[in-house]
Amino acid sequence: MATSGLEADTIGYTLNKSRYLNVTNRCGMLRCAFCPKFNGSWTVSEYNMRLRHNPTVEELVEAAGEPGEYDEVVFCGMGESTTRLDVMLEVARRLRAKGITKLRLNTNGLANQMYGRDVAPEIAAVIPTISVSLNAQDEETYNRHCRPRYPGAYESMLGFVKSAHEAGADVTVTAVDGLPGVDIAACEAIARKLGVKFRRRVLDDLV
Ligand code: SF4
Repeated sequence: MATSGLEADTIGYTLNKSRYLNVTNRCGMLRCAFCPKFNGSWTVSEYNMRLRHNPTVEELVEAAGEPGEYDEVVFCGMGESTTRLDVMLEVARRLRAKGITKLRLNTNGLANQMYGRDVAPEIAAVIPTISVSLNAQDEETYNRHCRPRYPGAYESMLGFVKSAHEAGADVTVTAVDGLPGVDIAACEAIARKLGVKFRRRVLDDLV
């Protein structure tokens, strides 16, 4: 797993009794202006999140630990796990097979736009809890902070939320409090309208 003579990559890390998996450093669809990695910081808590290689399915399964060791296992890290959709789904399937079923995905919600099809049901089938970065109450504010690579990202993200919810996932949308122009109450109202939960995040909180 580690490159000889260098510090090992952080593939799994623990925060608040949850085990997090650092699946990739790639985001693909967004370059959020508030992201620590675009502001010269690659650390979460005491962990260095910069990966020198993409972890394999086996490495990720091993990093997730054993049943009962953690409250939940979360696909998160400093990157977008759905850019490695097949790897993420296979890891989830293997964890479920070994009895680890409390799984969560923290995502930008742009997998549907990335793959050109609705992948939310596939994800919801193996990862029952999904947290999506709503980030803003409207497209203009979203685009300013998240700097999407392609037009239509905000609408696509909302579609992902709806689809994941309809597929039976326990969905929470989040927004970062304190970013200029982000109206937390309006974000919460969107969550209510979509029938999903809402969580206010603070800056640099990647959990
Ligand atoms: S989606 Fe997350 S990891 Fe990617 S740029 Fe935005 S804040 Fe950073």
